[in-house]
Amino acid sequence: MSSYAAPLRDLRFVLEELLEHRSLRLPEYQELSAELVTAILDEAARLAGEVWAPLNRHGDEQGCRLEEDVVHTPTGFVEAYRAFAEGGWNGIGSDPAHGGQGLPEVVASAVQEMWQAANMALALCPLLTAGAVEALAQHGSEELKSRYLEKLISGEWTGTMNLTEPQAGSDLSTVRTQAMPEGAHYRLSGQKIFITWGEHDCADNIIHLVLARLPDAAEGNRGISLFLVPKFLVDEQGRPGERNDVSCVSLEHKLGIHGSPTCVLSFGEHEGAIGYLVGEPGRGLQHMFTMMNAARHKVGIQGIGVAERAYQQACTYAAERVQGRTPEARGGRPAALNEHYDVRRMLLSMRARLEALRALALLSASEMDRARHAPTVDERQCAQRRVDLYTPVVKAFSTDQAVDITSLGIQVHGGMGYIEETGAAQHLRDARIAPIYEGTNGIQALDLAGRKIHRDGGATLGGVLDEVAACADELTADVELADLGMSLHQGVGDLRRAVAIVLARGDDAERGPDALQALATPLLALTGHVLCAWQMGRAALIAQAALATGNDDAFYQAKLASADFVLRQWLPIGRAQLAAIEADPGVLD
Ligand SMILES: Cc1cc2nc3c(=O)[nH]c(=O)nc-3n(C[C@H](O)[C@H](O)[C@H](O)COP(=O)(O)OP(=O)(O)OC[C@H]3O[C@@H](n4cnc5c(N)ncnc54)[C@H](O)[C@@H]3O)c2cc1C
Repeated sequence: MSSYAAPLRDLRFVLEELLEHRSLRLPEYQELSAELVTAILDEAARLAGEVWAPLNRHGDEQGCRLEEDVVHTPTGFVEAYRAFAEGGWNGIGSDPAHGGQGLPEVVASAVQEMWQAANMALALCPLLTAGAVEALAQHGSEELKSRYLEKLISGEWTGTMNLTEPQAGSDLSTVRTQAMPEGAHYRLSGQKIFITWGEHDCADNIIHLVLARLPDAAEGNRGISLFLVPKFLVDEQGRPGERNDVSCVSLEHKLGIHGSPTCVLSFGEHEGAIGYLVGEPGRGLQHMFTMMNAARHKVGIQGIGVAERAYQQACTYAAERVQGRTPEARGGRPAALNEHYDVRRMLLSMRARLEALRALALLSASEMDRARHAPTVDERQCAQRRVDLYTPVVKAFSTDQAVDITSLGIQVHGGMGYIEETGAAQHLRDARIAPIYEGTNGIQALDLAGRKIHRDGGATLGGVLDEVAACADELTADVELADLGMSLHQGVGDLRRAVAIVLARGDDAERGPDALQALATPLLALTGHVLCAWQMGRAALIAQAALATGNDDAFYQAKLASADFVLRQWLPIGRAQLAAIEADPGVLD
């Protein structure tokens, strides 16, 4: 069984050195010290490593089972979830007014990576709850908030997102679930599929957020409203009582995340499930997007977490298994796998990409903090535009890379990786869902090309690229890092050219959206490579300066090696996407 130790040193490097704890300088977080953040990370690492991680393999093997309307999660999950909720981890990023701890998103994201790495299937439960909290906090009435928020934030109750129906996946405009008004509430009927943690035995109540249509609703997106449907109806004192008319009719059999119950939920098989309108009628999709953006960021982090777990397992295996000999020049003795340069290359590729993805995801989280709490409106709006730009990249690029990194983890194990006993294959099977849910990566790419780049004339990305170019200048000015700077400049040049193509193609009257769609996924890959390379360029500058002080040499040497790999070997793979971006969309006719 593989163990997991949170990458605390690297997380601290990103928070303290790369981001210079910029969130802690916001007035909102004045009372939070860097020491306290370190203590929080250490404590989370303990729970993740000692309680959640040992259950990961077992959760995969045992899976969930449905018995008479109740879903039983794998043995140990109930206790592990309770330890998490009782430790106050569920609400670390939530509003203190409702019992949360109000920590910066950048800290919550660093901790999030640990849960996802330790046990991705279990971590999905609070991930979905966080989305429900966000949607309710922003759009719910005071009455709904006072009745449900505190218990969701404490983790006593959990939340779900009910969007998907058999005919409504990426295109939610065809949602059919109905909501009939009945006094102060509504009666819902319909079927939702693929609902993560839709039914389980870890909490006393489950609060479903459900997209449905009112009887006189318009066709398409504008006719969809958002409803809160509790599993157990809640009385005046806030206690769960009578069972609502919603039930789990089956569990999906899946490639991975076996410990996460993926449910088919039936609403209103009898008198209709009682639900309460959240926000305005007809604006359900917009309201749901509030929570989906936060969830997309977390799914990106999930990719990083599961890939980190695969990397750690690959390192351990490669250090233990002996195969072949070292070359004569290196002693000619029996060699562990990690002494062979091809294996070392694979491990470096996994580690370097992980560090780059982590840096980008936490940069985006720190922009979320600024978008909420920066002192001026201008600063907040500027930060929000960056969050909007980064979110599809963090979601799609991190999860695509996670699939590749976990696959490389299997390769390091050789045949032992392909058979289930080692557990290496679980990471790939688990990771494979992340590019699909929370908006497929294809949909993220369309969002990036259309809404995030074309719609603002490339202004936000242009501003970021000016900063990337400044970093490239700094690297180029340093004799030892000049090659990295040149490489980064080339990446910036390619991405600027890609933006120009997006702007021209987006206005193509003849082909319309097809012209953008044809280049969207290669564009996202190029953007992800350049943004990650930027962060690793900055990391190289910091590492170079730190090495001059002679402190923690091994860490900074490794960081320089990661940066060198990212900028000189990996970035050119992203740059090769320019050919696909330039290609005439007509080749797809
Ligand atoms: C394990 C699991 C857990 C899930 N959890 C939840 C949950 O908790 N709640 C929930 O509501 N849903 C959940 N889902 C559903 C998930 O969000 C959807 O599967 C996803 O949104 C894709 O929809 P789809 O499966 O219908 O695929 P489709 O929409 O049929 O897409 C198939 C392919 O076509 C592409 N495509 C579709 N439309 C377009 C377009 N307009 N332009 C370009 N390409 C397009 C997609 O990118 C994809 O590659 C879950 C799914 C799984 C498998």
